[in-house]
Amino acid sequence: MRELRTCPVTGRGVLLNDGWVDLPPPVPAPTERCWYCAYAGPVIAHVDTVRVVPHPVPALGIEGDPRPTVVAGGVRRQAVGAHELLFAQGHAPVGEAVLLAVLAARWTDLQGDQRLRGFGATRRDAPGAHAVWQLFAVPTELPPSLPAGWRDAERAHGERILEDAGATTLLAWAPRVPFETWVLPAHGIARFSRTDPELVAAVGAAVDRVRERLSLALRHAPIDLVLVDGEPWRIELLPRLAGPAPVEVATGLPIHGVFPEAAAEYLRDGRRATR
Ligand SMILES: [Zn+2]
Repeated sequence: MRELRTCPVTGRGVLLNDGWVDLPPPVPAPTERCWYCAYAGPVIAHVDTVRVVPHPVPALGIEGDPRPTVVAGGVRRQAVGAHELLFAQGHAPVGEAVLLAVLAARWTDLQGDQRLRGFGATRRDAPGAHAVWQLFAVPTELPPSLPAGWRDAERAHGERILEDAGATTLLAWAPRVPFETWVLPAHGIARFSRTDPELVAAVGAAVDRVRERLSLALRHAPIDLVLVDGEPWRIELLPRLAGPAPVEVATGLPIHGVFPEAAAEYLRDGRRATR
């Protein structure tokens, strides 16, 4: 059974899924062979070498009724939505732009289902791992995200900017982890599925470049990529150097000692990053 439940005290939502023995499995359980290379199950969409397939133990399912019911003051509803995996054939680097183009097409398809209100996607980048985006669609709106004003102020200011061409790459103002970096279209406020394909490609190429820089600077630490829709959408890159500290567990506030200005300066120095 899958359920989306909203806390009556904090307003926060949670996905409950009794199909998940170990919570939460970020990807299918590891096997001898790469699960993605060995995949022979159903395919939802196929573009060149990129496939979109259903998650084998999805957090949300397309069947059901997402209308909420109130029980003991709390809101519960069936976890109607989508949970899909998107990956290219093999482990050779394919370029983020190729994956993002297919992701945008699938995102647009899912938006045709009126029950689906919120969309997000993430993938973990690690050396040797298959590049796999997980795409989620949920029956509730996600908090609005309007970074255009901040982006334009940063572009004028420049202290946290790494690159600024078709895409703007900058260090997050209030980084949740050291070196948190955002890549977003350099102009406009288009949402992900309504962005000019050339701009999607520019963001993808910029993500490739900054991922390389971060990976070299941080000794190949895994990096979580998160696609946040908004006006405009963005890719957040979150290096995973350590787990959350107790203060974050207790208050939700991340804590660390790297200011984004210093991180930008460090990453701008290509010689240091490639040493
Ligand atoms: Zn593989």
